[in-house]
Amino acid sequence: MPVQAINLGFPRIGIQRELKSATEGYWKGALPREQLLGTARDLRLRHWALQRDAGIDVIPCNDFSLYDQVLDMACLLGCVPARFDRDTELVDLDTYFALARGSNRAHAMEMTKWFDTNYHYLVPEFERGQQLRIASSKVFDECAQARAAGLQAAPVLIGPITFALLGKAKYEPFRPAQIIEALLPVYADILKRLEPLAATVQIDEPCLGTDLSPEIASRFVPVYDRLAKAAPNVRIRLATYFNDLAENMGLAFNLAVESVHIDLARAPGQLEEALRQASKTGKSLVLGLVDGRNVWRNDLSASLATLEWAVDRLGADRVAVAPSCSLLHVPVDVNVETRMDAEIRNWMAFAQQKLEEIATLKRGVNEGRKSVASALEASDEIIAIRRRSPRTHDAKVRSRAAAVTSTALERHAPFSQRQASQATVFKLPPFPTTTIGSFPQTAEIRAARAAHKAGTLDTAAYTSTMRREIDAVVRFQERIGLDVLVHGEAERNDMVEYFGEQLQGFAFTRNGWVQSYGSRCVKPPILFGDVSRPKAMTVEWSQYAQSITSRVVKGMLTGPVTILQWSFVRDDQPRSETCRQIALAIRDEVLDLERAGIHIIQIDEPAIREGLPLRRSEWRPYLRWAVDCFRLASSGVADSTQIHTHMCYSEFNDIIESVAEMDADVISIETSRSQMELLDAFATFHYPNQIGPGVYDIHSPRVPTQAEMMSLLSKAARVIPPRQLWVNPDCGLKTRGWPEVEQALTNMVAAARAARQEHSREPS
Ligand code: GLN
Ligand code: ZN
Repeated sequence: MPVQAINLGFPRIGIQRELKSATEGYWKGALPREQLLGTARDLRLRHWALQRDAGIDVIPCNDFSLYDQVLDMACLLGCVPARFDRDTELVDLDTYFALARGSNRAHAMEMTKWFDTNYHYLVPEFERGQQLRIASSKVFDECAQARAAGLQAAPVLIGPITFALLGKAKYEPFRPAQIIEALLPVYADILKRLEPLAATVQIDEPCLGTDLSPEIASRFVPVYDRLAKAAPNVRIRLATYFNDLAENMGLAFNLAVESVHIDLARAPGQLEEALRQASKTGKSLVLGLVDGRNVWRNDLSASLATLEWAVDRLGADRVAVAPSCSLLHVPVDVNVETRMDAEIRNWMAFAQQKLEEIATLKRGVNEGRKSVASALEASDEIIAIRRRSPRTHDAKVRSRAAAVTSTALERHAPFSQRQASQATVFKLPPFPTTTIGSFPQTAEIRAARAAHKAGTLDTAAYTSTMRREIDAVVRFQERIGLDVLVHGEAERNDMVEYFGEQLQGFAFTRNGWVQSYGSRCVKPPILFGDVSRPKAMTVEWSQYAQSITSRVVKGMLTGPVTILQWSFVRDDQPRSETCRQIALAIRDEVLDLERAGIHIIQIDEPAIREGLPLRRSEWRPYLRWAVDCFRLASSGVADSTQIHTHMCYSEFNDIIESVAEMDADVISIETSRSQMELLDAFATFHYPNQIGPGVYDIHSPRVPTQAEMMSLLSKAARVIPPRQLWVNPDCGLKTRGWPEVEQALTNMVAAARAARQEHSREPS
């Protein structure tokens, strides 16, 4: 058999985001159920046909989802929390959406990020006495649908071990090994039912790219023995991605599976060992050569050489070629980006183009290099052009980045001295109050931004609209008595896009949507070249806000790690290098703000934690450069200038030392949702600088009372010295409405005043 081309998953949202419109229409009651299901079916058929026509031999099914593939798996396994209606044999459509989005009777399942991606999945909940059983027919229906369309489709399942590790249990102690045991009979039933429907089943176990406890690792062999026995005629393809298998390599190849897929975009170095294992164990190897996490065209000559080498070692019948992971994480089609700079568009491949690359590689290895000569030539040429292009290489940026020394990473004086000089400048009360930056984004604001972008609102009119907004936000903050004001960020559509659009080295798509969660999609900026800042990006707005008030206004920037993390970035140099260039651009902005009279500057870094590598052993080097980039961006200012940062997630206990090393004068963090749980870390680690644990959960429309916020503050004051505390919401307010915000912030200021009173009575 010749080498086969395989796909692991395709973006399901649709090139026009058809699935988004359909699900949102259904939720609003504007679209009947049949039409939603019809759109879903049409999308599947269209995407299958597209993959087949591109030359893919084995097409995935059940990679489609109306909301989330982990939620689908939970429903398939009957792993549904008891607070939801479980009377029916199968989970019905409305219960499915209620699990994802909540209902008046039950709150939604939690969401968190899928490994190191920006995709959010719903966290499975394990409960005692859960009736695990097949409770969804989706995977069987999709297999049957693919068959009816005349396709050889391989259903995709999330493997039992990864599924158990992704979930959480409400009871103690949570033992994933027990969960795996409980799930196993259902998985066996599923495979049995798939046997007549599919020759191959793809089982994803991305947890093999993470640190596994010996107990969990020991479950793999018996689990896969059991699955293989349940359906002896099914070929199991074990899919791994996002990392090197490293110490789990031997484990993966010793399972009762027919083939193993490895990610060679993220971890090319694992090929040699994988080939050794494959020849030893007689398994087939699926080479994930085309990057499913980034948008650059593949180096086809290099990939083909790798593929040829694998075929020499194992024989064509035991080698297949594939993307490095599901294509869920890239946009659909670069060819629709007709307004984009043609040269840069030519450097890129989205899902559809990636499938063509995979098919070219297959053809090249099966029919010889000659058969794909022109594709190889075109690929070589583009790779060479991109490498040499003045658009990717700016000598000034490079020499500046190379000349960065450790002094550029240090504030002049240590925090204790800075704190003293800042105290004399700002004269803030104890428990100073502030917000995280954005205020509600009204329809009027959005319309003005859109009109300005479209050219129908001239710059003068746009500026005055934004200034009116700043006036209103500043007056409001003065009226309710906040101490450190912000300008409100009305001019920003998105905290990364806003900066990317003003920096050299970034390009933007019009249709490059990637699913973030449910019906929500993002359009990540594309960082293709050396980054520099032609001119100030935020100064005019902050300066205007400062000019209309006697209170201090905080300037607001997005940090280098977050800009890096939320963009598609170049793959021709280390991420740390790219991040350093962004940091220098932000440093310039910080200094311009300071020169313009802005003496408190916040640099948001909500994405530092999600950039953590999947294995702990790789954390240190990452945290080193991430922290250094923040310091490079922030350290140029005078001691009396106060640097803030902001992070919004509640698990940061395990990186708290690195957070402290960022040496921001003040940090605000999200804590109110977890009722200050995250402050546990502060009981043992004495965070040296000032900190504002959020007291207002901005993800909820509910307005917290003064008493609630006071009780959160006193919780915080038990582990953090009161003189280090700030009072602020969990995050920005842009998604909230004005009435809630007015009430909540008024209560927050009252809570801070009460805290001041209380603590002034205590001896310090
Ligand atoms: N300054 C940003 C805002 O207030 C921060 C957003 C974020 O942390 N995600 O919206
Ligand atoms: Zn935030």
